[in-house]
Amino acid sequence: MIHTIAIPTPFMVGRVNTYLVEDDPLTLVDTGPNSGKALDELEQAIAALGHRVEDLGLIIVTHQHIDHMGLVDILARRSGAEVAAIASLGPWLAEYSLRMNEEDEFAEALMKRHGVSDETCMALRAVSAAFRGWGAPSTVTRLLDDGEVLALRDRKLSVHHRPGHSPTDTVFYDAERREMLGGDHLIGHISSNPLITKAEPRALIAYLDSLRKTAEMDVDVVWPGHGDPVRDHRDLIESRFRMHERRAAKIRRVLEDGPRTAHEIATGMWGNLAVTQAYLTLSEVLGHLDLLRDRGEVVEDDDGPVSRFAVAG
Ligand SMILES: [Zn+2]
Repeated sequence: MIHTIAIPTPFMVGRVNTYLVEDDPLTLVDTGPNSGKALDELEQAIAALGHRVEDLGLIIVTHQHIDHMGLVDILARRSGAEVAAIASLGPWLAEYSLRMNEEDEFAEALMKRHGVSDETCMALRAVSAAFRGWGAPSTVTRLLDDGEVLALRDRKLSVHHRPGHSPTDTVFYDAERREMLGGDHLIGHISSNPLITKAEPRALIAYLDSLRKTAEMDVDVVWPGHGDPVRDHRDLIESRFRMHERRAAKIRRVLEDGPRTAHEIATGMWGNLAVTQAYLTLSEVLGHLDLLRDRGEVVEDDDGPVSRFAVAG
């Protein structure tokens, strides 16, 4: 039996879903962020289901984002549970602060290259530093490979790497029950932002490839990282493809009026959003520019300190 436990986060996305899988070992999929409130609610929910944190034997992490992994270390220490994640997530979680610093530096260089002001870059740095404590380093004791099977007593979960939303996104698929623990790979009520990272600079392209693979799988229900279960994954994936096509077409039309930086395109489409959204919207625009460039419809002029994009030909 899979139980959904929605844990509060301080982020715009709202609550994050963790899942308690009643099996042997007792398994928790994702943990919520590193906060007293999150831990309290998680403990109470586990108790309401007749278990204790100390009974956990396995913690599975779906990806590197802090709303999903902040409590891993605390829970693993208290329970002695094994911590399982895709192999590339192991070093990332072990060196959490260092990796986040590297990501921040990468993001800042990318933002400057694409026309975001120094002021916004500095503000975003401060935001990132303020959020840092909601995540925490932790030790992955079981490194998983793409395609491997994680066997519990009553359930087999096959491991599938689905990079895009983050470079470490992983889904866990129970073929017998046609169920998938999906993390943030596929969410019903919002489209998962393919955030550009050092490890996955072509995030949207990677994400669309990952969605194509998931569409080929027979799934009755996806248990997502946020919101309600997804019961029509193929329709949802189709609608995501259409949305990204529309967005790419819109960006192409914007460029027909003349060359633009990616940041100018972003502010043209979404206005001057809160600084916290600057990297998100830049990632969106650059992702679609990757699509358009791959099709030969758009070219990048990266001669100067700031890149400009133009319609090809
Ligand atoms: Zn996420």
